[in-house]
Amino acid sequence: MRERTLSPETREWIEILAGDPCSYCGLPAESVDHIVPPGRGGTDEWDNLTAACLSCNSSKNNRSLWNFLGRRRIRREWQGWFDGPTASVVVA
Ligand SMILES: [Zn+2]
Repeated sequence: MRERTLSPETREWIEILAGDPCSYCGLPAESVDHIVPPGRGGTDEWDNLTAACLSCNSSKNNRSLWNFLGRRRIRREWQGWFDGPTASVVVA
């Protein structure tokens, strides 16, 4: 990730993510990925960051999340996002 000033919430979130598996494939994550790529208007705020392995991070690249996930089996955690605003998303 590029060197920038991160909010305290974001720093804390990145530390939490460090113990998480890849959000996309479940393998050990070595990086933090932007859910919405910065090139598409995504921010560095905590709610746009998730744990990802290097393979997923680089293959997702600048695609939108939905475009990327559409090519993969969608993990159950993400399913709630597709069920609409009434579904709850659990961040473990
Ligand atoms: Zn992965």
